[in-house]
Amino acid sequence: MTRLLLIGPPGAGKGTQAARLAEAYLIPAISTGDIFRSNVKNETELGKKAKAYMDAGDNVPDSLTNDLIRHRLAEPDAQAGFLLDGYPRTEDQVRELDDFLEGHGAALDLVIELVADPDVVVARLRKRASEQGRSDDDETVVRHRLDVYRQQTEPLIDVYDARRVLVRVDALGSIDDVTARIVRALADRGVPQP
Ligand code: ADP
Repeated sequence: MTRLLLIGPPGAGKGTQAARLAEAYLIPAISTGDIFRSNVKNETELGKKAKAYMDAGDNVPDSLTNDLIRHRLAEPDAQAGFLLDGYPRTEDQVRELDDFLEGHGAALDLVIELVADPDVVVARLRKRASEQGRSDDDETVVRHRLDVYRQQTEPLIDVYDARRVLVRVDALGSIDDVTARIVRALADRGVPQP
């Protein structure tokens, strides 16, 4: 049973690493950003509510996000563990996740912080904007997403550090190097690859 969480600024490579770690640890990667984007694409009720916030680079309201994650974590494939990417990103979401896990007699094993310099992440997102055309990768929106991250999500790092579950990993370098660093850091903290 492995319960992990990836945290870091937009552009740090969470989605890329999450997919690789899911494979390596045989757990589903659960990305709230991906779930929202697929809802927007399919024009669901949730997607319609979330779209304006996402396009502006703001967090979708906690009420919508918490509901969604409760349902997702209750699905069968998440019972053997999971890797959360992009959730929690506010203190309210931390409380919600704590409640949910406590209710199941569970807790997070480790929180992986992907550490990246803001200039580097802005450059990466600029590249992604030209390659993938994600509507929230426009330069002004990117800057705003970084501000939102700093204000609402960065404080969570101290919360998890105080709980002694935080591992910091340098997010610069090749994708393979970063994955290898994470795998090593997890092994050092008693979470070996299956
Ligand atoms: P990034 O971290 O690179 O900005 P994500 O794919 O994680 O990208 O998120 C994209 C957008 O989806 C966010 O800007 C926000 O609007 C919304 N979102 C994703 N996860 C959450 C969450 N946990 N709470 C609120 N909004 C979220």
